[in-house]
Amino acid sequence: MGYLQKPFLLLVLLSLTTLPCFVFCRPIEGHRRPFKYLQPLEGSRIGETVTGLHKLKNYLARFGYLDYAHVATGTGKDDHFDSHLESALKLYQTTYKLNVSGVVDDATLDLMMTPRCGVPDFFNGSEAGIGTQWVHFPGNPKWPANKRNLKWGPLQADFPYDFAVPSIIFAAQKWGAVTSFLFEELPFEQHLGADIKIGFFKGPHGDYQSFDGPRHILGHATPPTVAFAHFDGDEKWGVSQSDDTVDFVSVALHELGHTLGMGHSMVPEAVMFATIPYGVQKRDLTQDDIDGIKNLYP
Ligand code: ZN
Repeated sequence: MGYLQKPFLLLVLLSLTTLPCFVFCRPIEGHRRPFKYLQPLEGSRIGETVTGLHKLKNYLARFGYLDYAHVATGTGKDDHFDSHLESALKLYQTTYKLNVSGVVDDATLDLMMTPRCGVPDFFNGSEAGIGTQWVHFPGNPKWPANKRNLKWGPLQADFPYDFAVPSIIFAAQKWGAVTSFLFEELPFEQHLGADIKIGFFKGPHGDYQSFDGPRHILGHATPPTVAFAHFDGDEKWGVSQSDDTVDFVSVALHELGHTLGMGHSMVPEAVMFATIPYGVQKRDLTQDDIDGIKNLYP
């Protein structure tokens, strides 16, 4: 039986608007924008050598805009603004519809410093995100036609059932409403049999995509048919609108989209857009999200 038929759904939905903020770990201090270490790089351009520029290279490499082969380590060359970095920066600016200046300008930094999903926008140099609308993962991985009842299970016995489960149920209902998928929760003891495995982790956690503390990477997920959704256990999650928390419901809706095969949309309003600032809620699929999932599962 899917969640749409569960009698306590109304209670769940009500709880999403009334639950207080939940804090997993240490409190947040300082500026609200993550990736603040990029700020001193403002105005940098090709030909210059600027202390800390290697951090920008690592950022662009992490999200698929720059080949790691062009990110030198351990030498002064790390901080040189070469043609590879300019090309990567222009691609980033093109992708996010910024002024394609090739210069580390304020608008570019502002977007880079916004909390975001850890799933890259590009994979191995192939397009995954550029465009004007929704995209799918390269190769269009999807659940097979005979697989429409998706079981999900928590990866940890101490999974934060109190707020995470209602939020995931809410998110599953949203995707289920525009597809034929039904979602079923499994207890921790049965999570090995789950189609979608969901967990909270801090720092390195075995998948080569380490989390980085609060206000940076919020989560990441993999597409079908080996679907995982991981959330940063150091994040200050909330389920009510607050400038001091990131809305778990919105991020769960986004990451669940990845587990169905959705990539990062270039529509800023879309749930599948890569970034989401603190205090912002995106709890409804946009037409772009709906068009994308219906294209994958007609
Ligand atoms: Zn994402």
